[in-house]
Amino acid sequence: MGTPIHIGVDLGGTKIEAAALDDAGQLLQRKRIATPRHDYPGTLAAIHGLILALEAELGVRASIGIGTPGAVSPFSGRLRNANSVWLNDRSLCSDLEHCLRRPVRIANDADCFTLSEATDGAAAGARSVFGVIIGTGTGGGVVINGQLLSGPNAIAGEWGHNPLPWPQDDERPGPHCYCGKSGCIETWVSGPALSADLKRHSGRQLDGKAIAAAAEQGDTDAEAALQRYEDRLARALASVINLLDPEVIVLGGGLSNLQRLYQHLPERIRPYIFGDGLATRIIPPRFGDASGVRGAAWLWR
Ligand SMILES: [Zn+2]
Repeated sequence: MGTPIHIGVDLGGTKIEAAALDDAGQLLQRKRIATPRHDYPGTLAAIHGLILALEAELGVRASIGIGTPGAVSPFSGRLRNANSVWLNDRSLCSDLEHCLRRPVRIANDADCFTLSEATDGAAAGARSVFGVIIGTGTGGGVVINGQLLSGPNAIAGEWGHNPLPWPQDDERPGPHCYCGKSGCIETWVSGPALSADLKRHSGRQLDGKAIAAAAEQGDTDAEAALQRYEDRLARALASVINLLDPEVIVLGGGLSNLQRLYQHLPERIRPYIFGDGLATRIIPPRFGDASGVRGAAWLWR
């Protein structure tokens, strides 16, 4: 036998992607299929099939890590908080271990993103990394000295459901959140939240990409929405810096493609932190979407 092979699976709401990496992080093979939505046995069979196909092509038996929306509850062993709702309350880990006949490790997709970028991605070498997903939702993960931080409640890094810090009067109580509360960070800094903010102020309906393009063309509504967005994201990140003081914050998800964030966030964060300067680096991802499978594979490294 040569080097150990690690298979990582990114279980998303629309697609399931699996990749095999060697111990050095070299991508050996990858496969993806559409997620059998609202079909739990079908989802299990799809994951099983992808893994067996990769192993057959490579002639190996690999370690298996899975990145999921939501997380496995340490109290029930079942998945919770997944926006792919047919996965919730299912014993995904033990069901996969049963069909794959080996131990399986599962982590939240934002945790996998952070682990990937901290291991051999944009934040490689940093001692403390906060990884942020700003996309359809808002998630986060923490890696300290190369290790994913996981606590007794399995919610480390879940900043998206803290309230928006330093709210202005017109930001209270804030939009209703699917978690049952109002004004969560996710309701201000996700992609849909940016669109909703533009709509509230101007009545116009554009997605995040279109808002960025319009702002570049000099559209004042779009520019104002992006400035509000940047200030809110800055406040949300400043509260993380005050708590954790990470060396690096790496952004992921669709909105991490907004290049202006990397220029504007440092100056916007500075007034909110309890310090006299800002040494934290705020950077784009190296692997981006591929960090889902890579981080899942690294759960066994
Ligand atoms: Zn919430």
